[in-house]
Amino acid sequence: ALTDASPETSDALRVLHRVFGYDSFRGEQQEIIEQVVAGGDALVLMPTGGGKSLCYQIPALVRDGTGVVISPLIALMQDQVDALTALGVRAGFLNSTQAPHERQAVEQAFLADELDLLYLAPERLRTEGTQRLLDRGKVSLFAIDEAHCVAQWGHDFRPDYLALSMLHERWPKVPRIALTATATEATHAEIAQRLGLEDAKHFVASFDRPNIQYRIVPKNNPQKQLLELVRTEHEGDAGVVYCLSRASVEKTAAFLVEQGVQAVPYHAGMDARDRAANQARFLREDGVVVVATIAFGMGIDKPDVRFVAHLDLPKSVEGYYQETGRAGRDGEPATAWLAYGLQDVVQQRKLIDGSEGDDAHRRSLGMHLDAMLALCETVACRRVRLLAYFGQQGEPCGNCDTCLTPAESWDGTVAAQKLLSTVWRLAKERRQKFGAGQIIDILQGKKTAKVIQFDHDGLSVFGVGADLSTQEWRGVVRQLLAQGLLAVEGDYGTLVLTEASGEVLGGRRSVPMRKEAVQASPSRKASG
Ligand code: ADP
Ligand code: ZN
Repeated sequence: ALTDASPETSDALRVLHRVFGYDSFRGEQQEIIEQVVAGGDALVLMPTGGGKSLCYQIPALVRDGTGVVISPLIALMQDQVDALTALGVRAGFLNSTQAPHERQAVEQAFLADELDLLYLAPERLRTEGTQRLLDRGKVSLFAIDEAHCVAQWGHDFRPDYLALSMLHERWPKVPRIALTATATEATHAEIAQRLGLEDAKHFVASFDRPNIQYRIVPKNNPQKQLLELVRTEHEGDAGVVYCLSRASVEKTAAFLVEQGVQAVPYHAGMDARDRAANQARFLREDGVVVVATIAFGMGIDKPDVRFVAHLDLPKSVEGYYQETGRAGRDGEPATAWLAYGLQDVVQQRKLIDGSEGDDAHRRSLGMHLDAMLALCETVACRRVRLLAYFGQQGEPCGNCDTCLTPAESWDGTVAAQKLLSTVWRLAKERRQKFGAGQIIDILQGKKTAKVIQFDHDGLSVFGVGADLSTQEWRGVVRQLLAQGLLAVEGDYGTLVLTEASGEVLGGRRSVPMRKEAVQASPSRKASG
C-alpha cells in the first residue's frame, strides 16, 4: 500500500471493504478500532445509528480469538448472528432461548477457536460455567453493548450489568469496549466508574442529527393530529408512533388502519408470534407504520424510517432522543414529532409518585421529567436545547419548529397570579384542593354543577380569567408546572403551590410564557 497507515488501520480498512463492503470509516470509527485492536480499552458514546457495531466487530475480526459481545437484547441476537453469517463472519450466541444441544454446538465452536464473535446475555456471564468456558477458549475482546444499562437510575437499568466490573479483574489482559447511545455527563461518568473504565480512552461523538426536524406541538386530538401529519407529509412512509399504554397502542393502530394507513401494533402484552410478525413486516415491507410502546426499537436497524411520532410525553430527554434517533438513519430528511398536553404532565407525576424505590429515585425521575418539559416549553431552538442537554454546543438549526416559526412569548405574570391565587384561596379559605379543570372553570366564571356544589362562584377570584380560553389556561398550568411554580400531587392530579409560587404571588418574579402555536386544531375557538 502507498499509504502511511499503521498496520492496524490497513487491516481494519481491508476488513471494512472486504467483509462489510463499505468504502470508508464514519466519524471516529477508525480511531476507536485502532485503540481496541492495539489492546486498549475504549468508552464510546455515539448516537443511535452512528455505527457502533463496527467498532467492536472489526477489532474482533482483526485480533486473534473470539470477540465476546455482552448485549441485553436477547431477542435480536439471532438476527445479528444471521446478518453476520451472511457476510461470512463466524458468529454465535449463548442465551436462555436455546436448546442444550444448540448451546453445546456454540461452545464447541468457541473452544475450537472457530468463532469471530460470540454474543452473550449479561446474566449468562454471571454463571461460573460460562466464566470457565471463557477461560478455556481465547477471548480477543469484550464489547459491552448498551452500556448505559449499568447506570442505576437510568431508564434501562439491568442489575446484571453491575457484575460486569469483574471482566477486568478476571481477564485483565483482554481489551474492553463499552458502547452506548445514551450519555449525559452523569451517565457517562457512572458507566466509567461502575465498569472500571476510568483509564479507557473516551470517544464522544456529536449527538447532532441534522436531517431530523424536531417539532413539539400542544396536544388536543392526538389521533387526528397524527393522521394529519401522515397525510400531509408522510403518506406511504415508514414510521414509528410511540404511545405510553398498550391500550392506546391498540386504539391508535386500529384508527390508522381504518383511515387507510398500513399500521401495526407492537407492545409487550401481545402474543410473541404476532409481535414478531409485525416487527418483520415493518422491517421488510415499505411504508409500514408501527404503533408501539417503548418496548419497541432498541437495536432495530431500519434506515428509512421517515418519521417518529410521540403521542405521549417521554419520561426523559434520553428516552426522547433515543426514540427519535430511529428516524432518518439513512441521512435523508425525517421528522420527529411530539404532541403533549397538560394531562401528560399530570399522568407522569402520578406515575413517579406511585413508583417503586426510594425518595432519591423518585427525585431523579422528577428531574428527568422536568428536563423533558423544559425542552417542550422552550422558545429557543430545539436542537440547541437537546445538544446542550447532552453537554454539547450547537447553533440554531433553522430546521426545527421554533426556528421555523419562532414561538412568541407573552407576559404571563398576571395570568399566573390569578391562577396561583385561586389555588391558594381554595387551600387557605376552604381547605380544598382541586385539579386543573375546576380551577379553570372558576377562573373563567363557569357555573358548572361542580362549581355550584362547592360554592365556588362565591370566591373573589370567580370569573377573573374570562379573557383566556380553556386551552390557553391549560397552557398556563402546563408552563407553571414546567417552571416549578406549581405542582401536582396525589391520584387525582390536584394542584398545589410550590415554594417558588410565593415569588410570583408577591410580584417579585415575572413569568414569560410561550404563546401556543396551535395550528390545525379543530376545537379551538377564537378568543379575545
Ligand atoms: P448503532 O449501533 O450505533 O445504532 P449500527 O452499528 O447499527 O449503529 O450502524 C447503523 C448503520 O450504519 C448500519 O446499517 C451500518 O451497517 C451502517 N454503517 C456503519 N458504519 C458504516 C460505514 N463506515 N460506512 C457505511 N455504513 C456504515
Ligand atoms: Zn432549531
